[in-house]
Amino acid sequence: MCAKSTPNYLAGYPIALVEQVQRLIEQGLLTDTLLQKYPHAHAVRSDKALYDYVLEIKGRYLRNAGQLSKVAFDGKLHVIQHALGTHTSISRVQGTKLRAKREIRIAELFKEMPLEFLRMIVVHELAHIKEHEHSKAFYQLCRHMEPDYHQLEFDLRAYLIYLEATGQPLWSAANIDAVSLLNE
Ligand SMILES: [Zn+2]
Repeated sequence: MCAKSTPNYLAGYPIALVEQVQRLIEQGLLTDTLLQKYPHAHAVRSDKALYDYVLEIKGRYLRNAGQLSKVAFDGKLHVIQHALGTHTSISRVQGTKLRAKREIRIAELFKEMPLEFLRMIVVHELAHIKEHEHSKAFYQLCRHMEPDYHQLEFDLRAYLIYLEATGQPLWSAANIDAVSLLNE
């Protein structure tokens, strides 16, 4: 592996885990592992569908956390530091009240991924409504919304390393799970 050109998607993880991922990529086994765990791409194909998906999770766990003014896939968000998405909160004076206008943008990269990864990033961005920093409380909230959060984030980061190295996505609209299409 060429360490200098590989973005540090696994920074902060134990070295043994990072080496394990690198070995899997070198041996060509990461793809099988990921595809076995996550066989299908999700069917959330539009900003409208994404908005509904985010609102459903927010309604369940963060009902009172303020309104979201916009939820969208963002094609410009594929640069490394924003690969995981962004959330913005713009304060506006409305009458005498200061209202926060919140937006969630998800990197377009997440359109071609399994539902588990989309859910992970949505949970991450929703948790930022309440917790700005990546604090202990932040990750607690993530785990509250998605108990598998940490495993999913790890698998996603492993996938991003693979994608950066090969440029070959593992999922596409062509392998959307037929069942999830029916349920839309
Ligand atoms: Zn974050």
